[in-house]
Amino acid sequence: MRAKHVVGNWKMHGSLERNAVLLAALAGHFTAGAAGTGNVGVCVPFPFLAQAGSLLKGSAVAWGAQDVSAHAQGAFTGEVSAAMLTEFGTSYVIVGHSERRAHHAESSALVAAKAAAALTAGLTPIICVGETLEERKAEMTETVVGGQLAVCVETLGLDSLARCVIAYEPVWAIGTGLNASPAQVQAVHAFLRSRLGRAGGEVSLLYGGSVKASNARELFAMPDVDGGLIGGASLSFEDFAPVCRAFA
Ligand code: PEP
Repeated sequence: MRAKHVVGNWKMHGSLERNAVLLAALAGHFTAGAAGTGNVGVCVPFPFLAQAGSLLKGSAVAWGAQDVSAHAQGAFTGEVSAAMLTEFGTSYVIVGHSERRAHHAESSALVAAKAAAALTAGLTPIICVGETLEERKAEMTETVVGGQLAVCVETLGLDSLARCVIAYEPVWAIGTGLNASPAQVQAVHAFLRSRLGRAGGEVSLLYGGSVKASNARELFAMPDVDGGLIGGASLSFEDFAPVCRAFA
């Protein structure tokens, strides 16, 4: 059976003081062995990894990063290697988020190389794919997400890809309050799964884009949806905990 995941993406939000409240609440609620949820995680800005590790250790909540270098080490100022992330107990790392593809011109080839570096270090990459509104209107959704996925299939191979998580995040639904409908999400997830060949039965496919307590249950009920990548609603315990419980 495919693993279920609900993972928060804090983006560039947080402070030591505010994080402490949220992380302590999550650790107190999602205790080790608690039933009724899948895997719960939070992907925090790099400087907060140590704090996340110290406050979540021993709970059922994993922590992760939002980016990783494709390189192992060297003269790459500002970059953070996958091995460095593992020193902080990191489990997940998001790669290819649409904000990085758009604002940092990350190509699908670079995203795949980052996923490969993460896998080598033993991390679980959450590989993001998704189309813009213009691409959806032009009926290019499958071409776009299929193309983004194909580069990962070619670079990583299906056996390695089976150890990744893929997040379908339509760009038009991120941070807009306008989530894709369950039927739209299911259609894209079924398409992505068909493109994963023999790895399709193992890869968890998450949906991301304006997921909140009021819509999580119907989205997660779709047969090819194995959880969510949650932005805005992961920034408070009151918003995030019900989303994590939406599988129950
Ligand atoms: C995201 O940034 O990955 C995301 C899904 O954001 P939001 O939930 O705020 O749309």
